[in-house]
Amino acid sequence: MVVIRGATTIARDEADEIRGAVKELLEQIVQKNGLNREEVVSIVFSSTSDIHSYYPAKAAREAGFESSSLFSAQEPEIEGGLKLCIRTMLFVEKNLTPKHVYLRGAKVLRKDIAEKINVAIDGPAGSGKSTIARLLARDYKILYLDTGAMYRACAYKILKDGLHPEIEAEAEKSLENLDLDVVYEDDVQKTLLGGTDVSAFIRTPEISMAASAVSRYPFVRLRMVEKQREIASRQSCVLDGRDIGTFVLPNADFKFFLTANADIRVQRRAKEMEERGEKVDYEALKQDILRRDEQDSSRAMAPLKQADDSILVDTSFLSVEEVLQTIKRRMQEKI
Ligand code: C5P
Repeated sequence: MVVIRGATTIARDEADEIRGAVKELLEQIVQKNGLNREEVVSIVFSSTSDIHSYYPAKAAREAGFESSSLFSAQEPEIEGGLKLCIRTMLFVEKNLTPKHVYLRGAKVLRKDIAEKINVAIDGPAGSGKSTIARLLARDYKILYLDTGAMYRACAYKILKDGLHPEIEAEAEKSLENLDLDVVYEDDVQKTLLGGTDVSAFIRTPEISMAASAVSRYPFVRLRMVEKQREIASRQSCVLDGRDIGTFVLPNADFKFFLTANADIRVQRRAKEMEERGEKVDYEALKQDILRRDEQDSSRAMAPLKQADDSILVDTSFLSVEEVLQTIKRRMQEKI
C-alpha cells in the first residue's frame, strides 16, 4: 500500500468551490501517478476549520471514486496556519513512487508540509522589490532578508570610521574586523554592527551611494553572499537585492526581476523620503539613482542583471497589490 499526499486551497467556503478544487486535485493525483480510480482503496481528507468538511468526500464520490472508502475530517485551528486549505491522503494498492500534488499555493503556503523555499527578487532601486518582498514574506509567513541593508551597513561603518568607500584600501581597512549580524524582532529585520542596531541610520542618500561603491569590491560581496546563503539555507525566505537570482541563489525556487521606468522609481523613492520627514531634492535624487543603477549594472562581480530564468515584472503602472498578486499567481503556476 502506498500513500499519496496532496493539498489545495479554495477562495471561499462554498460547495461548488470545494467541489471544483477537490476534483482538480484528485484528477492531478490520478494523472501524475498513472492511477486507475479502482486502485484507490481509500481517501482521507482533512480541511482547515474554516471549511465545511463534508464536501470533499462528496466531491470525490462525484469525481468517480466509487469503490474507495472516503473519510473527511476537520482540523483544529492551527495558530499561524493556512486558511481555507484541504489536504488529502490517497491509499493506493499499487507499487509506485508517489508523486504528491500541491495546488493553488498549498505547498508553498503551508509551513508544516512545505519544503524549504527561497524566492529571489532582484531589480534596480525603486522598482518595488523591498515592498513586495516584505509583503510576500508576510503572506507566506516566511523570512524576508533585505540584502541591501547589509551593504548599507558596510558603507555606514566605513563612513563612521572617517574613511572613503570609493577607495578600496580604506574600505578594506575599515571592514577588516567587521562584526555584522542580521537578527529579527517580531519578524522585522535589524542589521547589527558590533551588536548595535544601525537600521535607522542606513537609509540616507549618502549611504545609498556609498553602499553602491563598496558593493563592487569582491572582498565585501563574498562575505555578504556567504552570510546570505547561510541564512537562506536554514529556512524559507524571500531575499531582495541585485544578484540573488544570478549569484547568491542561482537555484532559487522562484526568481523575479522587477523593473519600472526611472521617473517612477525616483517618485517612489522621493515619496518614501518625504514620509520619513526628509527634504527631497528631486533632481539630485534622480541623478543618484541613475548613477547607482549604472554602477550596480556595470561592476565586474555579480552585477545587477536579470537571471535568464527569472520572471520580469514591470511595476511602472501597477499598484502594490497588483504586483503582489502577479507574483503569487506566477509562483502558483510553477508549483
Ligand atoms: O537595495 P538597496 O537600495 O538597499 O541596496 C543598496 C546598494 O547595495 C545597491 O545600490 C547595491 O549597490 C548594493 N546591493 C548589491 N547587491 C545586493 C543588494 C544590494 O550590490 N544583493
